[in-house]
Amino acid sequence: MHLSDHDLRQMDEDWLVTLPEDKLRQVSARMLLDLKEARDRLNQTANNSSRPPSSRAPWEKDQAAEKASSDPEAVDEDQASEAKPPAQADEESRVDGKSDSVALPGKQKRNPGKQVGAPGHGRTQKFIITGNKIHRAGYCAACGDGLPDDAPSQAYAAWDEIDVEVLTEGGLRVTCLRHALLDITGHCCGHTTRTQPYRAEADTLWDKVELSEWRLVGPTLAAIIVMLSLRMRLSRARIRELLDELFGVTLSIGVIDQTLREAGRACDPLEAVLLEKIEQAVLLHVDETGWPEGKALQWLWVLLSASTVIYFIGSRSQEMLRNALGDQFAGVLMADGYSVYRAWLNRLRCWAHLLRKARGLEESTDRRVAEVGGKILAIVTQLIEAILSARENPPPESLTVLHEQAIRHLRELCERHSDDPHKKLRELAGEFLHDWDVILRQVSEPHLPLTNNPAESALRPMVIARRISHGTRCPSGSRAYALLASVIETCRLRKASSWHYLAEVIQAARIGAPLPAMPSAPASL
Ligand SMILES: [Zn+2]
Repeated sequence: MHLSDHDLRQMDEDWLVTLPEDKLRQVSARMLLDLKEARDRLNQTANNSSRPPSSRAPWEKDQAAEKASSDPEAVDEDQASEAKPPAQADEESRVDGKSDSVALPGKQKRNPGKQVGAPGHGRTQKFIITGNKIHRAGYCAACGDGLPDDAPSQAYAAWDEIDVEVLTEGGLRVTCLRHALLDITGHCCGHTTRTQPYRAEADTLWDKVELSEWRLVGPTLAAIIVMLSLRMRLSRARIRELLDELFGVTLSIGVIDQTLREAGRACDPLEAVLLEKIEQAVLLHVDETGWPEGKALQWLWVLLSASTVIYFIGSRSQEMLRNALGDQFAGVLMADGYSVYRAWLNRLRCWAHLLRKARGLEESTDRRVAEVGGKILAIVTQLIEAILSARENPPPESLTVLHEQAIRHLRELCERHSDDPHKKLRELAGEFLHDWDVILRQVSEPHLPLTNNPAESALRPMVIARRISHGTRCPSGSRAYALLASVIETCRLRKASSWHYLAEVIQAARIGAPLPAMPSAPASL
């Protein structure tokens, strides 16, 4: 769109009459483009709107399509908010204190945060302005001519951006940059062009999460907030306290929360980059754990290769994993015994799980069960030792041949107890028989990993975070959390600074610039 509401308000027939013919043509051409775009939007339905389904998060593909078809209103609502001029939207969110705290009419449940109608309070903290940045439009909105530097201009709005500067001599300094937006009247056609801050288009996946240049919290401070929340696992309230105590910067919980979600949205395009790496992995560790999202129980998945890790929050179905992995994945999948993974034939089982189960049986108070458990445990231990030593000194013959007797014995034990009255014994025997070839794969290919420990370690920080934060509240919160965790942990795996990288990402995304490339993996990985 070339013309904002501010532009259209200035344009009337009297003005058109004053324009020479060539200007009139320029202006009409731009108006025609806008008219066509507006008409296309009017004709948009849930089925032909904004983004193709393939650009959705892979694991949300089906849910998103379902939502769109069952809720045609949802898209219109987003377009309405998109059409709103930025200044107006910002005023609204400033009045609300927090844009996602608006209670919808007819909604019974009280939303978290400030309530509609409750007295608001603006920022009282005053900062010393350490710099100024003037934003000026480069082109006349009406006729498209360039606006020269000497064209008459006037500031119509301004915002302060509090940020943290990393000093070359070490340490940090708090800065406050005052941004001014100019109204510029060109010599071209006399139209006054309003300089607009960049604002990313509304996106149904990022309901109410705004990505824009007009922000109180600067990119580096935003990256610090992400680090404090995701890596240091501080609650919003603790982050508020820390920034207040250490930097003298007082932010509301709402602003901190918005900053985290916005940072998640800024990272959105990186998801495809990470997934592409995951899809090419030779060996992929996968694991999942329960994750509360509001009142629903979702699953937090982790997919981990040698130099890339990606998390996502969604259902526990095979569909989810299939969508995330795509059709191209041809590597080995290392996972636990969860049935969803059985669809992947090129698969490994984690021996630590089996070892733990066998040990559990061996410690049973039932003597018969303990005896069988002990035998299974002894065979599994023998095979593990053989696999580990084969890595150091490859044996002349295959381990499958060398340990044929033990393997046969294990098979007999499992077959004999596959209908055992003892539940745990029956289950373990069944598990071995059901997945026999996959479980024994490391015996014939001892170089393959024995455990799924890397995936379990990658989930551990999230399990601790879950205990502190009780999960996330809504789908966009979950999405932001998973994206930020993916970027941070991948940076860590690649021995790069995640918060420096995130600051660059946030800065670029807020002006619609291409994101900086992910730090590359060290050659050793
Ligand atoms: Zn003009």
